[in-house]
Amino acid sequence: MEQKYETHQHDVLVIGAGGAGLRAAIESSAQGAKTALVCKSLLGKAHTVMAEGGIAAAMANVDKRDDWKAHLRDTMLGGNFVNNWRMAQIHAQEAPDRVNELESWGAVFDRTPEGRINQRNFGGHSYPRLAHVGDRTGLEMIRTLQDKGIHSGIDVYMECTLVSLLKDGDRVCGAVGYYRETGKIVIFQAKAVVLATGGIGKAFKINSNSWEYTGDGQALAYHAGADLVDMEFVQFHPTGMIWPPSVSGILITEAVRGEGGVLINKDGKRFMFDYIPYKYKELYADTEKEANTWMADTLKSRPTKARKPPELMSRDVVARAIWNEIKEGRGTEHGGVFLDVASRRSAEDIKKKLPSMYHQFKELADVDITKVPMEIGPTCHYVMGGVRVDPETQAASVPGLYAAGEVAAGLHGSNRLGGNSLSDLLVFGRRAGASAAAFAKSIPAQSPLVDAVIEKHAAEMVAPFNREKGENPYDVVRDLQITMESNAGMFRDEDGLKNCLVELEKLKVRANHTKVEGNRQFNPGWHAALELKSLLTVSEALVRCALERRESRGGHSRTDFPDYAAEFAKVNLALRADASGAMALRREPLPAMPDDIEKLFDPKVLKKLRGEE
Ligand code: FAD
Repeated sequence: MEQKYETHQHDVLVIGAGGAGLRAAIESSAQGAKTALVCKSLLGKAHTVMAEGGIAAAMANVDKRDDWKAHLRDTMLGGNFVNNWRMAQIHAQEAPDRVNELESWGAVFDRTPEGRINQRNFGGHSYPRLAHVGDRTGLEMIRTLQDKGIHSGIDVYMECTLVSLLKDGDRVCGAVGYYRETGKIVIFQAKAVVLATGGIGKAFKINSNSWEYTGDGQALAYHAGADLVDMEFVQFHPTGMIWPPSVSGILITEAVRGEGGVLINKDGKRFMFDYIPYKYKELYADTEKEANTWMADTLKSRPTKARKPPELMSRDVVARAIWNEIKEGRGTEHGGVFLDVASRRSAEDIKKKLPSMYHQFKELADVDITKVPMEIGPTCHYVMGGVRVDPETQAASVPGLYAAGEVAAGLHGSNRLGGNSLSDLLVFGRRAGASAAAFAKSIPAQSPLVDAVIEKHAAEMVAPFNREKGENPYDVVRDLQITMESNAGMFRDEDGLKNCLVELEKLKVRANHTKVEGNRQFNPGWHAALELKSLLTVSEALVRCALERRESRGGHSRTDFPDYAAEFAKVNLALRADASGAMALRREPLPAMPDDIEKLFDPKVLKKLRGEE
């Protein structure tokens, strides 16, 4: 088999080269493991590069009151208390070290007047907490990690898509896939595998994600027997572009609101004051005057006692408010609302603090955001659910498999706070890399590959070329996205979700009968045909969990169950393939929270979130 297909042997295989994958590979290599890093696109072009607003870390550079306990509290409240509390604690405690480490590796952050790393406000964070580089933080993060990574002796394989994990008994022992450019099949043998493949946004029609986000890592893990968890929790970011249609869904960073932007309906009303939920009453202003005092103070980097503007509540709250304004007829001509930074900041400030946003609107919509408001609406952005991992080691529920970054679940609960992803990648990427390297050391040698298994995978991959006739895979992808958008999008109900499951079954049949023309050299139609398996797996997982969770919480809104429910307040929904290959769903109790952590929260708010009131 080694002669027939290109084969590589490593201690640790990292799949995905965004922030999580790069950080994992750097750590694995530092621990002495021979490490491979594989990515679907070119190195450096991962999703992380698109991150704009910043990295959340309680460094207290701008407001001395900030600390890891406040960050933990904000993360748990933002996630509506179904987060894994231990992951939230590790994340809050370790994020400042990871940001400092990134700086020591060469990242150049914006500075405060005193020369410290500057931190900006973001939704759901009590204090200015996001270390940033203008609105191009992800670019600086990837540049730095790449520089560090390529000098760490990591073997990098680009434009290579992995489609199945290999197993040796119960243990994951590698993966098989193909080079996108040549179409050649390639095998990676490894003693441990780290998944860092990002999210699932391409399952929806309107999304802020790039073509790579087809849920491959979640599907690879599931088909290898691992648990997925929390798949019903999908973040619809409040501010995506809506006009012209060709750019709909493209993200407008929350930094626009962090830098003073306000939301206005078609009647000119600043409507977010009408939508402050109980859990945020203490934190967010209920009078415009108070909010404006806060804004004036923070813009001068001066700690303030006044409460924050309501535009900076967590994303689930803001997205639902926007949707409600539109539904009740107060939306704009193109079906959105306005986001106005022009009347709040000088043109010079906007160009300095939000340069990408300025160019994005100028080039894509011919709109000058220093002069007029932007027209915006919600867009599918992030998945909180994913591979179930151990909070300390990032081990999945199958031996030899680890996951970090957006592909993994637990930290964010039902809703992620902005900025908490980039810190997640660094904190848990490092832990995953270290754990995978340690596991690899415990495996004395790799077993030989089984030819029949490899041939089965190879035959499945090339099947779309060998069918006499069949459907164009793009048509199936398009119909899947429309089905998910209309039945399992921002608002869901039982009828829509049940209908969605029926449609997904039909789409599965169609996906198994796609026909691809041409040859295997850079053939995007073939790539789409193969990605359908992942898209369908994550879509089904999402819909099954959404149907089971009969309440509304964070990134899961049921119009037929609009409130929190006590029966779902202390459980995660986990999925695993049963003996027949069907998805088996179970309720899994949340890990018990120690008293010293529980004490950080207002008992009245906890009661509400637990549906006890
Ligand atoms: P990614 O960076 O997406 O990397 C995934 C990698 O996996 C890629 O290399 C891809 O090629 C590879 N891959 C996928 N499938 C396969 C496969 N089958 N085989 C081989 N390789 C594969 N978060 C913040 O915290 N702050 C922000 O300011 C912020 N801004 C954002 C702005 C935008 C526009 C978007 C879309 C997201 C933003 N986010 C932000 C979210 C954040 O960027 C992502 O959640 C995060 O970058 C995900 O990182 P990752 O390492 O998990 O995955």
